[in-house]
Amino acid sequence: MHVVDPSYEIQDELDQASLVIRLEACGRICYKSEEKITKDSALPFVKKIAEHGHNSVMEMAVVSLQVQCSAEQFDAFLLLEPKYFFVDRLDGGMLVTGSIRSFRELYQRAGNTLLVEALVSFLTSGHPYLFEGVWDGGHGLSEGTTIAVKKLDLQEVEALPPQLLARHRFTGVKFVVNRAVTHEIVRHRPCSFLQESQRYCRYSQDKFGSQVTFIKPIFYEEGTEEYSLWKKAMEESEQLYLQLLETSTPQAARTVLPNSCKTEIIVYCNLAEWKHIFNLRTSPAAEPSMREVMIPLAVEMKERYPSVFS
Ligand SMILES: Cc1cc2nc3c(=O)[nH]c(=O)nc-3n(C[C@H](O)[C@H](O)[C@H](O)COP(=O)(O)OP(=O)(O)OC[C@H]3O[C@@H](n4cnc5c(N)ncnc54)[C@H](O)[C@@H]3O)c2cc1C
Repeated sequence: MHVVDPSYEIQDELDQASLVIRLEACGRICYKSEEKITKDSALPFVKKIAEHGHNSVMEMAVVSLQVQCSAEQFDAFLLLEPKYFFVDRLDGGMLVTGSIRSFRELYQRAGNTLLVEALVSFLTSGHPYLFEGVWDGGHGLSEGTTIAVKKLDLQEVEALPPQLLARHRFTGVKFVVNRAVTHEIVRHRPCSFLQESQRYCRYSQDKFGSQVTFIKPIFYEEGTEEYSLWKKAMEESEQLYLQLLETSTPQAARTVLPNSCKTEIIVYCNLAEWKHIFNLRTSPAAEPSMREVMIPLAVEMKERYPSVFS
């Protein structure tokens, strides 16, 4: 049995990575197979994920597009009720941010409309592999029009005025927390999540040290009788889990794992949603194990984006 402190990490490095590398790095958290990442592994991994319908992986990268179009074209786009997008009117067009999944599904639903075709056509020209099985070559609707699409890079998104910055800047945070905390975090519906799967991970394997990892509880001081009782319960559940794995699958054996089990989870959303999360999850009414990670994270985010979080 291994006991660790809870922690979090803002995924700055992935913000600088290509879309496909970002998707692979996030997707592998489910299987804890990060050791399989090589310079050539991202594309086949993401293709397989898309084929298997593990769709939430495709939510882990967003693209912001600045589109030059008429007011009528913008209104027609809004009438489609594009789901899981952030759309704002700009002078002479619009700013739209969405995940790879949301663009894929919008094209499947409304690919025969002008702006949707223009957006996805633009994205496929740079990233055809992300739209395999979805992009059919288009219908020529946007040819000869004055619609122009441009991808905003990170620096351009960060330079947006506060209201747009809050809506269009997406940030991923990887938490290492207990299962009770992940259970609460996933209630925040506008976010995308990927988390370590107790169905796929077999903690008896060498790569897990052949042991279960637990999060040190905030509630009990080491050396107290309560801590000893907690530790005893963890040791017993670990022993039973490993015993059950001798004859059954991880998904069956996990039924004896407790809330204290260590879980890695990536939470990906825009700054506006992070602000909402901090309002709820740093308040005295929130669960102490949640506050333990959210309070320092909120401080860090406020330092980075004072115009949004102040
Ligand atoms: C102290 C505390 C105690 C809690 N106790 C319990 C409990 O005992 N049992 C329990 O089940 N849950 C509990 N929760 C969870 C809580 O009810 C919310 O589900 C969770 O905090 C997610 O927040 P949210 O719904 O405000 O917004 P999110 O899901 O983060 O959504 C962000 C915003 O999107 C909008 N939105 C999203 N989906 C909808 C929708 N379907 N309809 C309308 N607007 C929507 C809202 O404006 C919302 O503010 C608790 C939360 C806290 C902080």
